[in-house]
Formats: sequence, C-alpha cells, structure tokens
Amino acid sequence: MDIHEYQAKEILKGFGVKIPPGGLAYSPEQATYRAHEIGGERWVVKAQVHTGGRGKVGGVKLCDNEQTVFEAANDMFGKKLVTPQSGPNGKIVYRVYVEAGVDIERELYLGFVLDRSTERIMVVASASGGMEIEDIASSEPDSIVRSIVDPAAGLSDFQAREIAFSLGFANTQIQQAVATIQGGYRAFRDLDATMVEINPLVVTRQGAIMALDAKMGFDDNAMFRRPEISELRDKSQEDPRETRAADRGLSYVGLDGNIGCIVNGAGLAMATMDMIKLAGGEPANFLDIGGGASAERVAKAFRLVRSDDKVEAILVNIFAGINRCDWVAQGVVQALEANPVDVPVIVRLAGTHVEEGRAILVDSGVTVIMASTLSEAAEKAVGACTLQTSTTAQMAAAS
Ligand code: ADP
Ligand code: MG
Repeated sequence: MDIHEYQAKEILKGFGVKIPPGGLAYSPEQATYRAHEIGGERWVVKAQVHTGGRGKVGGVKLCDNEQTVFEAANDMFGKKLVTPQSGPNGKIVYRVYVEAGVDIERELYLGFVLDRSTERIMVVASASGGMEIEDIASSEPDSIVRSIVDPAAGLSDFQAREIAFSLGFANTQIQQAVATIQGGYRAFRDLDATMVEINPLVVTRQGAIMALDAKMGFDDNAMFRRPEISELRDKSQEDPRETRAADRGLSYVGLDGNIGCIVNGAGLAMATMDMIKLAGGEPANFLDIGGGASAERVAKAFRLVRSDDKVEAILVNIFAGINRCDWVAQGVVQALEANPVDVPVIVRLAGTHVEEGRAILVDSGVTVIMASTLSEAAEKAVGACTLQTSTTAQMAAAS
C-alpha cells in the first residue's frame, strides 16, 4: 500500500525528520489560504498523487505570490499526471500540498529498502540526489552508499554517522543527519514499511537538513495491525479493479491482455500466465483466489474478472490441495447461473475431488469448455479469443 507525500512527511516528522511547514488543500482557494497560513514569500504547490517524477510533468510548481499559488493549484486539480513512474494510465490529482519554498544548497538521496539477498533492511544513500535512484545508479554508481542493518542491533549511531560522513556532511551537520537517517529507519521498522524514500533530502542555505520529498510503501499483509496507516489509503490512486478485489479479500493484479484468469495459489497463477503467453495470448489479470476458496469466493472472483471489459475469455485453473474441486465447480456454476457470461469459459480442474467437480460442471447445464492439462487449457483460451475476434471482424465486414 502506498501513501501520499504529505502523509509520509507527517509520519517522518514524528520520527524526528525535519520537513518544511506545509498544508493540504482540496481546492485552489484552500491552497491560497494555506500559503497565507504558512507565510513567507515563496511556496511550492505539489500534486499529491501516488507516483514520483511529478516535477518533470508540471506536478511541482514554485510560486512567489498567492495569486500564482491559486493558478498553480487550479491548473493541477482534476488533471491526469502521467510520469515515467505512473504507468500509461497516469494518476488524477484530487489533493495538492502547499509547502514553504526552501533555499536549497544541495540535494541528496536517502532510501530504505528490504534487501532480499541478505534479508535485511538496507540504507541506500547518495550525495547526488534530486534524480531517480535508477538514474544515479547508471550515471554515478560510485556515489551510492549501501549499508545493511543488523536486525538484532538495529541501526546504531555509529553506523548512521558513518553513512552521514560518506555523504559529505559538514561536522556541524552530522548530528542532524544522523537523526534523519535514524528517523527514516525507525519509521520503516516500526510501521511495517516496505520502502521509505527521501528524494531529495536537502541541505538548506541556512544549514538545515530537510526532507523535501517523501515516499512510503507498506506491507499489505501487516495492515491489519496498523489501522492508523490503513486509514491513509487513498482509493482514488489505485487501479479500480484492484481496489474492488482487495475489498473482497482477493489478491488481484490488473494486466493489459484479454484472457481473464481465476487461479488458486500465486505460483499456479504465475505458471498460468506463462502458459497463456506461451500459447500466444495475453492475460488480462492475475487473480489468486487463495487456498480454501468457497463457492462464494469463486463466484466473487468471476464477477470481478467479468467487470473488466477487455476480457474475451475466462480461464479457471484450479489445483485443489486444501481446496476441493467440487466447491470450485459449485462456485463456477453459481456464478454462471446468476450471471450468464457472453465469453467462453475454460475450466481445468486437478486434485482433490476432481471427478465430483467435473461431474457438477457437466450435469449443471452451464456452458464451459473443459481441459485436462494446463497447456490444453491455455491453448483453448487463446483459441477461443482468436475465434471471437475473427467472428466480430466477420460480422463487422458483413454489416
Ligand atoms: P518528484 O520527485 O515527484 O518530482 P519532488 O518533491 O522531489 O517531486 O520535487 C521535485 C523538485 O522540486 C525537488 O527535487 C526540488 O528541487 C524541488 N522542490 C520540491 N519541494 C520543494 C520545496 N519545498 N522548496 C524548494 N524546492 C522544492
Ligand atoms: Mg522526488
């Protein structure tokens, strides 16, 4: 789960990271009011969307009077920001953050990620901030400092000091830099984050160290014990298909193809997508209905997959271990009886109670295409799509 910049900043502030004064606005009038409240002579109006790279596409604007704050905000509201990180669909701006303009002396990069090879939290930092870490990695790889944190000891002061020194902070700034690094680490640890990124971390002309941008991502599986973080979820920034699935307790990732998949287990879902690709097709989604999927859950998954207009065929691929094929079959029948589909449904069942499952499908009278192996199922799904497309084309040609 991702959150907005202003939310991440508020959290980091609670962990001792300095940020400029700022306020959130839902309208241009409110943005002007925020600027007035903050005072000073320069403000930055920042689009709050769940993506980075806003500066390059007009999502971060420096203003020197309240009128330009109004205009900048007015320009941003309702606009779709497409950045190199947002994906082609972009993100719509519903909130802007107005912040005091800071006199920047230098920009640095400070991030915290989970390093999978060492299974530890890793601090990633660079004295060359202001650009994306991928760009720093390709243009100035030697500037990147990586430091692994021992989970038993935590991030010690000396380790944080070492990182601070390698980033070239002056002696008088070390204490502040250490507090910032420690703050970022504690926020990551204490809140079940999956990443914390401060880019840029700046040194101001007055010598203060501040986070000018902040990004945090959290582990969805830990959100049950972080209600205060869960509350920060902004559904307007998510793929609506994924939001609907999460609300129903299903694990769903929307993709761009036309074959809807209903599968149990993440591994089998990946294998199913691979098989579809191998057969020359493109999956429309990744949907894992989980281990003990009831008939109801299967029916829910069906509704979800069908709500995607791009879907031209649905492939149900179940390997029942804890699950049972007869329950899944009941779910399929239930879903199809309640809402008959106008696209072909291909079903491959294997494992516990497979014979009962098949019998339920055959006896039910609903139209499904049965397959006995995964590759056969994938080929039939791809074939069904091609058939549909050519029939539509023939009909269009005839009319
Ligand atoms: P993004 O990473 O999405 O482009 P940032 O918040 O990093 O957005 O802003 C882009 C750039 O705008 C920063 O690198 C910084 O140079 C400048 N900037 C951002 N906030 C401020 C601020 N409060 N005062 C002065 N400059 C800022
Ligand atoms: Mg940034």
